[in-house]
Amino acid sequence: MAHCHTLLQALRAQGHRITPQRTVILEVIAHAERHLSAEEVFELAQARTPAVNIATVYRTLDLLVERGLASRADLCGKMVYTTMRHGPHIHLVCRLCGQVTDADHHLLLPLSQEIQAHYHFTPDLQHISMLGVCAACQSEAG
Ligand SMILES: [Zn+2]
Ligand SMILES: [Zn+2]
Repeated sequence: MAHCHTLLQALRAQGHRITPQRTVILEVIAHAERHLSAEEVFELAQARTPAVNIATVYRTLDLLVERGLASRADLCGKMVYTTMRHGPHIHLVCRLCGQVTDADHHLLLPLSQEIQAHYHFTPDLQHISMLGVCAACQSEAG
């Protein structure tokens, strides 16, 4: 089954109304090869159907995140969205040059377990970005 249909079915099963606008938004984010900002989702959706408005895009993205079907990450002040098809991952964002490196999310498992043990809180660590300084910028500084 196409990924967008999986999302549609999941929302429908949770009792959400699937409007034509929402369908287009889901298709855009489900088929995107990369992370998209809400504005990019809006532009791509509007190219397909001018009826789509930005408020619906924000609401639909929020709903997907809330339901665990999509996740957002802060890439240097730019909020981007992707569906869970991409699986858990970490972005290491260099605060000096802006370069983004993807890191293995398994590194966060011990942290997740400690937080769970100490606070009985399950952190959402499937999609996070961390600011820091990349190797190239470190050697320039040093
Ligand atoms: Zn850098
Ligand atoms: Zn990501």
